[in-house]
Amino acid sequence: MKFSDLGLSEALLKAIEKKGYTEPSPIQEKAIPVVLEGNDILASAQTGTGKTAGFVLPLLHILSKRQPQGKRPIRALVLTPTRELAAQIYDNAKEYSEFLDFRTAVIFGGVSAVPQVKKLRNGVDMLVATPGRLLDLQGQRKLSLADVEILVLDEADRMLDMGFVHDLKRILKVMPEKRQNLLFSATFNSDIKRLAQTYLTNPVIVEATPENSTVEMIKQKIYRVDKTDKTNLVIKLISDGNWQQVLIFTRTKHGANRLTKKLEKQNITAAAIHGNKSQGARTKALAGFKSGNIRVMVATDIAARGLDIPLLPHVINFDLPNVPENYVHRIGRTGRAGASGEAISLVAADEVGLVRGIERLVGEKLPSEVVEGYEPIDNPDDVQQEKNRGGGGGGRGKKPHHRRNSDNKGGGNSHFRGKRKSNSGGGGGRDSGGGRDRRF
Ligand code: AMP
Repeated sequence: MKFSDLGLSEALLKAIEKKGYTEPSPIQEKAIPVVLEGNDILASAQTGTGKTAGFVLPLLHILSKRQPQGKRPIRALVLTPTRELAAQIYDNAKEYSEFLDFRTAVIFGGVSAVPQVKKLRNGVDMLVATPGRLLDLQGQRKLSLADVEILVLDEADRMLDMGFVHDLKRILKVMPEKRQNLLFSATFNSDIKRLAQTYLTNPVIVEATPENSTVEMIKQKIYRVDKTDKTNLVIKLISDGNWQQVLIFTRTKHGANRLTKKLEKQNITAAAIHGNKSQGARTKALAGFKSGNIRVMVATDIAARGLDIPLLPHVINFDLPNVPENYVHRIGRTGRAGASGEAISLVAADEVGLVRGIERLVGEKLPSEVVEGYEPIDNPDDVQQEKNRGGGGGGRGKKPHHRRNSDNKGGGNSHFRGKRKSNSGGGGGRDSGGGRDRRF
């Protein structure tokens, strides 16, 4: 399938070519024709699948075909949960609309509203927004949603998780009832289904990335370790493996700050990215990380959601997330756009129970290892938990100096580290066409 088979205008095909995309991703192949026909869609896709172009391209096609004369009201609204995601969608939309007479704006909190309002005053065709700032400016009558024809809810699950449901309802109330709705979500829980039933009209269901297959192309493993040893183990993994671009997840903002400081003390450049950081600091951290000036980015779940970090080779879960779905989102930061990646989870005694939920969700048992010198000294509760989950290998974890490398080939060498393995012939299959087809 080629982009030119999808029915997009010449101006869009030219922009696509300029971006260097040679073929549509599965979500684009499925979603674009459906949106062009004017249908509502309910799409299962997460960041990294090319979903943004999946809705922005047909939206640009439709709206630029019927450009109103004179005043330019907002005719498309893209709602996103985070500022980063909003900024990214805006950047993409600017690129895709380069050869069209089309105006896009982005608004989000944490920065001055003045330039945003100024831009809106000139008239925009498409607005990308986070719910809070949107309602704020709508309440002040700085913008009107009365002419919206197409609504995109991106990362709808995360929007609900972040408590935006009431904001969402208020926003929907000030829009025309008759409109085209595109809902994108990485997961489909009952809340999302209810949202879809309430606001979507006969949606076409588009599914491009079943969660499990996303996970398949990412090399996952667990290191059992004591909580107090986690920081040292992270430093060792990064140093021994000479990893140059690592995303680390912590459960708390405080934990992210603490780890960042400790890494820096070891001369490993690092930056924390979380909700307490100003927008400027977040943007700077992300830019530094992308350019290679910052080796490690330490993030909380919410801050990292939607970040577009191409070809990220290593993700470390410093703490396991409480919600198994977040594990899938986190490790989705690696193995992007067809490349393979490695996702490591550091699991302390009190997190062993969480592993089970994750394994159930991803549909496979995660291989577990212990690094020499970082053997956990499990407490009795933990041993019981391991037994409950059917963890084999008699005496698993009981003896502090019992090494277990058996789950992974090549473990006999103390310099086992994943880098070598992820580039090995064994991993090659994941780099090949199969993996590419699934995500790109
Ligand atoms: P997204 O899932 O929308 O965040 O996109 C992930 C990354 O894939 C972005 O860097 C896009 O620029 C890129 N991308 C989107 N569509 C394609 C395509 N058809 N071919 C190659 N890369 C793409």
